[in-house]
Amino acid sequence: MPIARILFTLPLPEPFDYTVPEGMALEPGSYVAAPVGPYDRLGMVVEVLPDQPGSNRKLKAVTAVYDVPPMTAAMREFMAWTSRYTVSHPGTILSMALRARDALQPSPVETLYRVTGAVPPRMTPARQRVLQVAAELGPSASADLAAAAGVTSSVVKGLLEAGALEAFEVETDLPFPAPDPDLRGAVLTPEQASAAAALQEGVRTGGYASYLLDGVTGSGKTEVYFEAIAETLRHDPEAQTLVLLPEIALTQAILTRFEQRFGTAPAPWHSGMTPKDRRRTMRETMQGRARIVIGARSALFLPFRKLKLIIVDEEHDASFKQEDGVTYHARDLAVMRAKLEEGVVILASATPALETVVNAEAGRYERLRLSARPGTARLPEIELVDLKKAPPTRGKWLSPVLEQAMLATLAAGEQSLLFLNRRGYAPLVICKACGERLKSPGTDTWLTEHRYSGRLVCHLTGYSIPKPAHCPHCGAADSLMGVGPGVERVAEELRILLPGARIEIFSSDTVQGGDSTRSLIDRMAEGEIDVLIGTQIVAKGHNFPNLTLVGVVDADSGLKGGDLRAGERTYQLLSQVAGRAGRAERPGRAYVQTYAPDNPAMQALAANDRDGYLAVERDIRAELELPPFGRLAAMILSAPAADLVDRFALEAAGLAPNGDGIELFGPAPAPLSVIRGRHRRRFLVKSPRTVDLSAYMTAWIGRLKPPSQVRISVDIDPYSFL
Ligand code: ADP
Repeated sequence: MPIARILFTLPLPEPFDYTVPEGMALEPGSYVAAPVGPYDRLGMVVEVLPDQPGSNRKLKAVTAVYDVPPMTAAMREFMAWTSRYTVSHPGTILSMALRARDALQPSPVETLYRVTGAVPPRMTPARQRVLQVAAELGPSASADLAAAAGVTSSVVKGLLEAGALEAFEVETDLPFPAPDPDLRGAVLTPEQASAAAALQEGVRTGGYASYLLDGVTGSGKTEVYFEAIAETLRHDPEAQTLVLLPEIALTQAILTRFEQRFGTAPAPWHSGMTPKDRRRTMRETMQGRARIVIGARSALFLPFRKLKLIIVDEEHDASFKQEDGVTYHARDLAVMRAKLEEGVVILASATPALETVVNAEAGRYERLRLSARPGTARLPEIELVDLKKAPPTRGKWLSPVLEQAMLATLAAGEQSLLFLNRRGYAPLVICKACGERLKSPGTDTWLTEHRYSGRLVCHLTGYSIPKPAHCPHCGAADSLMGVGPGVERVAEELRILLPGARIEIFSSDTVQGGDSTRSLIDRMAEGEIDVLIGTQIVAKGHNFPNLTLVGVVDADSGLKGGDLRAGERTYQLLSQVAGRAGRAERPGRAYVQTYAPDNPAMQALAANDRDGYLAVERDIRAELELPPFGRLAAMILSAPAADLVDRFALEAAGLAPNGDGIELFGPAPAPLSVIRGRHRRRFLVKSPRTVDLSAYMTAWIGRLKPPSQVRISVDIDPYSFL
């Protein structure tokens, strides 16, 4: 009997061998169930080996094979590559690819009822109500009919038996309607048209091609990549497109734009979906029927049938980096996947990452530029407000310059947006009596005061308590005081400055779920809000035509800490926020409050000199051999006891392999040295570009024998250093 090597969706380093029962057809990529211990588990065939006569290995048999298209060779290669690169078990990557396992089964069916027109021999008021409701609602489930008519389901059953209702079965998960590439899009500007033509040419030529769509905020990048999608749809009736967006940008607005351009919304994939919707998207994607999928970073692991175009919008966005479990950067992996799929990849941004710009300059991506906004819209003027020269009055956070601008904007009937990347009322709570700073238990973070909810919250772990009346340390009454500004506190200040203005807060605390986000965005777009105060969730993707003033309350907050990308990220975030202003006829302005007006990122922002800034950053990174001119990897060790993790960290340091050009830093306590009671230590490894740092880390881990309470995690190309 032939033997199948099966990789399971379990954190195991290797596939296992099974016999293939007579009559079962398997090939590499087939999805199967096979016994592991007492249970059948989901797995995928990696290889089928011919019969090995004479072998006396006792193997179990494959239980069943799923009736779905096998995983493609390109996807299997992609998974193998990702596993090796991220130093993760192949089975763990397979679990990521099969997040909605029900998708391997056909759609469940549901029984619906409809009226036949026949009159039941015995009519009661309850029966009459059901028939009336059924006629009004159309085909419905029994429970829905009963609920709407206010009867028990036995009445529905009775009507069925009497022939007044009939039952029929439907699949609950419907296919997505086919998008139409030829609905009319925007009339492109010459610059847009030439970028679109280049992308379409790439699609038609076929094979791997990579582009950087580098266009200022509001220049119409979306319209341009729509044309690449349209060409993909037209060119090959089986080709599929994946659009990756930062999770935060997956709002109704972008779905509506797709609907307008293609007649139907794309298949979505993100963390906020119900299991049923996930199952549907995954099934339709693996069957090849979903032609356009739009999703957050994890959509990159969906097993497409024929993925020919990947778009990474806002490619610089830090949320493409997955920090938990398997750490990966979805943009970098998207490029690799496009290569393996022999497809086209488009990275789009107004503020591309330095890595991406360096790749474009080296000729690895073709760069397409959009230098202007279409029509009369212009980029906003950005002014730095030096807080040393124009400080806010005591206890306030807005300088007189910004206050005046806000008053004038309101008087002109226009909208303002204030940006402050701090949720809640105050980021720190201290006791006036004893000076205690309130910390999250077992975790090295401060508690944030939230006034609306009256709670103190840890944003890292989610721990929260009602604000205590007494200091937990010294017991003093009414002594706890919030320090520093959060969005709630700035709102309080504005209500005094602009009495009567319609002021709202946009943060993950005030909008929960798609509906409330949508409603807030709609109200802002329709001018029903005068001032919106928001965290980074306001920065992306929104078009508010009457928004002419943007104020950045604390431009310096992102510059603190030892992150090598701090300056670059600050530049990206602030220029994106500023880019919300002046997106229609009226010109926009942005005021950026800073104590560091001489910081190169601030200077570049004011001068609108992105390329100049990137050139300076690039030289610094090249000089220090930091990414993308060198490689970094981190190893984080954690354990419930500090002495245990310290002892093991020393042992690990002693076992680090030697390598040419490898520099090892640490072990050092992580900046967040305790999280949920686990003590954390970090190593940072730096190497020249030519070194395979993944292989180095794999070799190192291979030498370690951690005690059971110690956890090891590896982060190749880390973005967070906490
Ligand atoms: P970006 O993705 O570069 O920030 P968008 O694609 O969101 O820009 O475009 C910004 C706004 O300009 C949108 O409202 C869009 O509909 C509009 N727009 C883009 N291109 C055109 C065009 N050629 N003609 C008219 N409006 C356009």
